[in-house]
Amino acid sequence: LKIVSTITELRTHLNSLSGVVGFVPTMGALHSGHQSLINRARLECDIVVVSAFVNPTQFLEGEDLSKYPKTEKDDDQLCKDSNVDILFRPNISDIYSRDEVSIKAPGIRGYILEGYMRPGHFDGVLQVVLKLFNIVSPKKAYFGKKDAQQLALIKQMVSNLFLSVDIVECETVRERSGLALSSRNRYLNEQEYEKAKLVSKSLFIAKSEVDKQNYSISDIKTKMKNILNGIEVQYISFVDREFQYIDQVEEGNTIILIAVKIGSTRLIDNIWV
Ligand code: AMP
Repeated sequence: LKIVSTITELRTHLNSLSGVVGFVPTMGALHSGHQSLINRARLECDIVVVSAFVNPTQFLEGEDLSKYPKTEKDDDQLCKDSNVDILFRPNISDIYSRDEVSIKAPGIRGYILEGYMRPGHFDGVLQVVLKLFNIVSPKKAYFGKKDAQQLALIKQMVSNLFLSVDIVECETVRERSGLALSSRNRYLNEQEYEKAKLVSKSLFIAKSEVDKQNYSISDIKTKMKNILNGIEVQYISFVDREFQYIDQVEEGNTIILIAVKIGSTRLIDNIWV
């Protein structure tokens, strides 16, 4: 494992290696969800590059940027254990200058759901992902379905801007309890953690309804809300795989998305049915 912070170091090291480059962008605080993306890249590519960068432009004012978990030593170890070739951990000044060309997320898909709750968030996500793609020049880049809207928008950017990178969609990794792994789970105290488990439980109930051919969104929502009793639900939404709102579940083409706030922690999760 080579750990680099500057673009020059990264490129020098990349140039000394040869083969297909697979890239896993992250914000650090790595867990088994990230590791599954890394493992997939390791299987499919010759060179695996991981970035760990807490991107300031995707955080809104008042969000948790400064207290975003930092676990650099553990991240190094996880990358070493997973046979990562290069861990790129740039400083903000390596990535951003004072006056920047900006990227705007698409006006509808980028500004519903997460984009509505966090206006401008996806502008920042796309800006940094585009920069990272240009820095690393990967053949393949790996993203989690856990952040389904982000994944859809990155695919759209690749298509709209004719980028030559393959986006690989990776399944959400969950704890045994069902809770989707997230760096933000570290913020939860014991009571909050118990509540957080209900989020995935509600999604599994929704899936079992769809399995029983119940395609009524209002009915499934009611059943989900019953489980989420006492939790601040920001949205439960049903979209198709193109992220368009739908009137009823289309089996095989639906994503059920949920965002909640538990204490001061915001969690998102989803299930593809
Ligand atoms: P983050 O560090 O949270 O920005 O996430 C980096 C990448 O890991 C993104 O593509 C996420 O979708 C993905 N990811 C985060 N959590 C999980 C998870 N539980 N399972 C699979 N992928 C995940």
